[in-house]
Amino acid sequence: MVITGCKLRGKTELYDVYIEDGKFTEIAEHGKKAAPKESYDAHGKLLMPPFVEPHIHLDCVMTAGIPHYNMSGTLFEGISTWHEYKTEQPLNIPEIKDRAKEALRLMAEYGVQFVRTHVDVTETTFAGLTAMEELKEELKDIIELQTVAFPQNGILSVKGGKELMKKAMAAGVDCVGGIPHYEFSREYGVESIRFIYDLAEEYNAMVDVHCDEMDDEQSRYLEVLATEAWQRGMGARTVAAHTCAMGSYNDSYCTKLFRLLKESEINFNSCPTESIHLQGRTENYPKRRGITRIKEIVDAGMNIALGQDSIADPWYPIGVGNPLRVLEMGLHVGHMLGYKDISNCLDLISVNGAKNLCIQDKYGIDVGKPANFIILDGGDDYEILRFQKAVLLSVHNGRIISEKKPAVVNVHF
Ligand SMILES: [Zn+2]
Repeated sequence: MVITGCKLRGKTELYDVYIEDGKFTEIAEHGKKAAPKESYDAHGKLLMPPFVEPHIHLDCVMTAGIPHYNMSGTLFEGISTWHEYKTEQPLNIPEIKDRAKEALRLMAEYGVQFVRTHVDVTETTFAGLTAMEELKEELKDIIELQTVAFPQNGILSVKGGKELMKKAMAAGVDCVGGIPHYEFSREYGVESIRFIYDLAEEYNAMVDVHCDEMDDEQSRYLEVLATEAWQRGMGARTVAAHTCAMGSYNDSYCTKLFRLLKESEINFNSCPTESIHLQGRTENYPKRRGITRIKEIVDAGMNIALGQDSIADPWYPIGVGNPLRVLEMGLHVGHMLGYKDISNCLDLISVNGAKNLCIQDKYGIDVGKPANFIILDGGDDYEILRFQKAVLLSVHNGRIISEKKPAVVNVHF
């Protein structure tokens, strides 16, 4: 396969990209040699590494409205509605796989090729976990899945919670998850984080914790997580997800906290569509945004990736699997529509996510790397963000996984 006349991020010239046996074999200036007949003409559009979805719950997708919608719009009603869903309709593996595949097909259409999904392991049948492990294997040549053992109801605050986490790790899960702010007490929250790192070390797994996903400025498990990561040298393999409370921390505390965060080298994830919807629900005006300090994290040189968290589930009723939609929301609520922020904004849904997933070895437009890429119907980050441009071609390991024709629009005036 040869892609001719494409743009690459950060470059002005056009390039021809050669692919053989699923790998990039040559990246040459456009027109340097005659293109073979079966080449794909990119017409000057942007070719870049695929989008990454660093945080979603595929076991819950496509369940919005069953048995009822989340009427308050709060995180906690989301958790109780999910409990009702599981009670009325016990989870089974084929049903979960069908819903998850539907979501993955949507994501493929929008250029996502790498996905990290949290799976509720306080659901004791482990149907969700089994479904995801099966999908991981079935889809491995098309879209790559990482799984997180996510204790939705807590680790210490659930009878037998530690055993469930151990069982999940033994089943081949990639990451240890957690939810320290939802544990019954501060002590439980702190103990859960130490337990998470012990498990991660035992199974050589990564760590991805729902951390301080609330507006309470006293929710300060991020400092515990980062300290543990720093102490054990596991920052690069750690993601602190959400950290919504950081949006409520005072600046004096945050200044001190950032020193630790930088030294720990942990990564961050924010889900702006989800958090702007779920947070700020317990207060009257003025309302907080409930979003972590995305811009400050970027400006401090730390890594943060944006994810969608949900597609039509008890926590978030809409969503179509499109990372550009999440990016647009993140830039708005993060006060990041300055030109400098916009001109590299696709990093937040691509390379930064790859860093969160620790997949840099198979990610990037470089000779010798697997041919994982997308071509978008635009030339640069600004244009693609502004017009929410479509993904025209998505190729994974040299194999086309989705194609789209540019839309034809006629405006009659
Ligand atoms: Zn989540």
